[in-house]
Amino acid sequence: QSSTGALPPGRRVDELVTAAHARYASDDSGVVADYIPVLGQADPSWFGLSVVGVDGGVHEAGDTGIPFTIQSISKAFVFALACQAIGHERVHERVGVNNTGLAFNSVIAVELNAGSPMNPMVNPGAIATTALLPAATSDERWAVVCDGLSRFAGRPLELDDEVYRSESETNHRNRAIAQLLHSYGRLDADADETVDVYTRQCALAVDAHDLAVMGATLADGGVNPLTGEQVVPAEVCRDTLAVLASCGMYERSGEWLFEIGLPAKSGVSGGIVAVSPGKGAVGAFSPRLDAAGNSVRGQRACAYLSRALGLNLFASA
Ligand code: GLN
Repeated sequence: QSSTGALPPGRRVDELVTAAHARYASDDSGVVADYIPVLGQADPSWFGLSVVGVDGGVHEAGDTGIPFTIQSISKAFVFALACQAIGHERVHERVGVNNTGLAFNSVIAVELNAGSPMNPMVNPGAIATTALLPAATSDERWAVVCDGLSRFAGRPLELDDEVYRSESETNHRNRAIAQLLHSYGRLDADADETVDVYTRQCALAVDAHDLAVMGATLADGGVNPLTGEQVVPAEVCRDTLAVLASCGMYERSGEWLFEIGLPAKSGVSGGIVAVSPGKGAVGAFSPRLDAAGNSVRGQRACAYLSRALGLNLFASA
């Protein structure tokens, strides 16, 4: 399959999504995250795959309607909202765009870089990005996030209250990261309030279908291919996808780009969104993770689909 032009015909995409699901459904490698206690209750057998094209075509297999919390994948879309609100230059200056080479919740990454949050796809950078959204109060900041992510999904997203409470009771590390950023003058809002909004954004419930629609909106110059709404401008998608390519899969971003060749973002509940600019996006969900926190089946299915659908950005034939 060529890497240029549109996705293959719809029926072919259906077949390949079904084949990818069948191929990896019995792969039991990896472990379900349990550092947020409620996440440990996820059924490790869940596996959903959705491909949404910029033409609005939907191609799915498996558990695409099972809700899970978006977790770190929210970072991609909150970053897009921040870019739209305050612009390319200022997010670059306040947050940064370079990979840390370290885990998503690393404190030492901040210390080693003179207090820089480093990039919006690790916890320090994501917390700093949430603080950059223009809002007078914490409630307003949460409303901006919830409304913005809902427009990417094309439906009103809701908070999973149980996961929000479970993470709020155990997120000492994120609170420490926010205080550290504050001590360096790198946080543009109150530390505890910002962590609370960040914890809520991570606890928004989505399914694999939603992730594919959200990703397809980034692939489509900011236009949601199902609702037709221009959610963010095209240049914001370009900026967001560049950061996803270098930082979206944590310290495994280089390997991911080498194998799969797409901007992508993962989250610890087992979601992955992989975006093929101008074509569409893959939304994958399966809770067993590798050591970096990326869904194992999700990664394998994305690798398969990238090859079979001709999505790799770097392939010229
Ligand atoms: N809410 C999670 C945290 O802050 C998100 C992490 C993730 O998905 N990698 O730890």
